Amino acid sequence: MKLQYLGTGASEAFPALFCECDVCVRALKAGGKNIKRRSSMLINDKVLIDVSPDLYMQKLEYQLNLAKVESIVVTHADEDHFDVFSLMLRGKPNYCQINYAEGGVEQVQVYGNETVEALYKKGVNKKLKGYQEQLAYHRVNPFQPFTASNMVFTPLLANHRLDEQCYIYMIECEGKRILYANDTDAIDEINYETIKGKRFDLVSMDCARGILPGDGHMGLGENRDMKRKLQQYQCVGPQTRYLLTHISHMCGMTHDELQMEAAKYEFEVAYDGLTIEI
Ligand SMILES: [Zn+2]
Ligand SMILES: [Zn+2]
Repeated sequence: MKLQYLGTGASEAFPALFCECDVCVRALKAGGKNIKRRSSMLINDKVLIDVSPDLYMQKLEYQLNLAKVESIVVTHADEDHFDVFSLMLRGKPNYCQINYAEGGVEQVQVYGNETVEALYKKGVNKKLKGYQEQLAYHRVNPFQPFTASNMVFTPLLANHRLDEQCYIYMIECEGKRILYANDTDAIDEINYETIKGKRFDLVSMDCARGILPGDGHMGLGENRDMKRKLQQYQCVGPQTRYLLTHISHMCGMTHDELQMEAAKYEFEVAYDGLTIEI
């Protein structure tokens, strides 16, 4: 299973779009891993989690062939995760041509919740016809597994917004299992009922709050609690890797500084372009 972090930043990116705070200035100067685009992940080059507003630059930077993406799984409807305009560029009404002979995908399957579906439909309806051949939407429900390409996704309940049922996902493929857990604060007990006894090879956690306490996103404190819970429910072992993502300027630490803190708990701070084979 090949996991590629295309972006590891929070909604405002890092350095933040208009921000001149101390850490944004330092991150800009330091460059490299300290530069974080909006969060998303590409799995096995064919399943994309979330459509970030930075997808275009991510395509250029990592030389992605997005025509080969078969499925797009969306966590929630916030603009940093579901840029409906970018998705619509996949349709013939936008003169998008796909080379099927070279493995281009005819119809992309999009999966998400009810709120994402409403945004999707609004986007599709702007152009009256022509998208159905290239894009199909599937509403998915909490704790009900579905198959995207050859991967089994189980939506779990994030703790992120009151007005939307946001998801994190358990993803199973090729005998491996990962937990993709942003954007969320500490998750409710009901989720552990579903995943207990299931061993994760990798746990990717929201750490937007850094050293600050959770507020709809996790910080290192909630990350540590989550690791403890996962241990308690026999979901993790010595081989499990813990990656932190959705990093923000709000706690005042650059990637390098946060990595020093995170290392104390055996967490790795993910960075844009990081590719992991499990
Ligand atoms: Zn976000
Ligand atoms: Zn800033």
